[in-house]
Amino acid sequence: MTASPAVRVEQLAKRYGATTALDGVSVDVQPGELFGFIGPDGAGKTTLFRILVTLLLPDAGRAEVLGRDPSRDLWELRRRVGYMPGRFSLYADLSVAENLRFFASVFGTTVEAQRETIAPIYDQLAPFADRRAGALSGGMKQKLALCCALVHRPDILFLDEPTTGVDAVSRREFWDLLAGLRGTGLTTLVSTPYMDEAGRCDRVALMQRGRLLAVDPPAAITASFGRPLLGAQAADRYALLRAVRAWPAVGSAFPFGETVHVTDARDGVPAARSAEELAAHLRGAGVRDAEVTEATPTIEDVFMARMGDATAAEEAA
Ligand code: ADP
Repeated sequence: MTASPAVRVEQLAKRYGATTALDGVSVDVQPGELFGFIGPDGAGKTTLFRILVTLLLPDAGRAEVLGRDPSRDLWELRRRVGYMPGRFSLYADLSVAENLRFFASVFGTTVEAQRETIAPIYDQLAPFADRRAGALSGGMKQKLALCCALVHRPDILFLDEPTTGVDAVSRREFWDLLAGLRGTGLTTLVSTPYMDEAGRCDRVALMQRGRLLAVDPPAAITASFGRPLLGAQAADRYALLRAVRAWPAVGSAFPFGETVHVTDARDGVPAARSAEELAAHLRGAGVRDAEVTEATPTIEDVFMARMGDATAAEEAA
């Protein structure tokens, strides 16, 4: 027998006037998982989290968190859930230490009593204990918010876009802290618009316009790409992209860092042959320094491909 899921979501739907924020979302999160909801702005991540942490009622569908219904058992769940909202939610005029003491006292505990739970994060904040929260760097603010969400020792943690707008080094440090928490067995749901953070999760859900496009471990998602991927490079990336899009066999083409990621619309053509043909086309189109190699699909490639499929299905419906 498998353990009951820490979170169960069945056909959850929510609209704001004419806007559909959640369009029949179903997913289970297992105890101890570090689970990522990955999608762009407006995908519905905040709406989903707000329903799960008892702050918003769905229009339809069911949700269970730790075996409880967030729309009914809110007082029990609020004690057991840690929530870090997307926007800075701390008191900017209080110091680091005061913010922590405040959040601990709301839950009838003290920072000292919870020292062990928050130690790895608290130790990084300690040198700034007397600094006003509003005067911290973005990365430090997020660490303080995480500490405040943990200070009552929750059974499950919801972090809504904790790394948005934070520099790359702080993002990595934040994910290292989450990896440490995962080691303690804490179930953590985290949302992010950054596809490169998927690899830090046990499983991820790719989310777009209120729907889940895929739910799987990150390696299984990238493995599902299912066709050869090419990476084209040239000094003039604009000319390159235009020429790639004019290739008669082009399937998809989008800029990816220094390269353009391209698929061949034809089925069954080996990658090496596609690469040769694309390179010949590009040189013929005047992009003389074009180089084409085989590329490894990333989560972003799968996201773009699934998003295209979902849009095509909607248009056909
Ligand atoms: P995300 O967190 O992925 O950015 P949200 O859940 O915040 O997504 O938003 C989903 C959709 O719902 C968006 O189109 C957003 O504009 C809309 N939305 C969110 N909150 C409200 C609200 N209070 N009133 C009207 N529309 C909203």
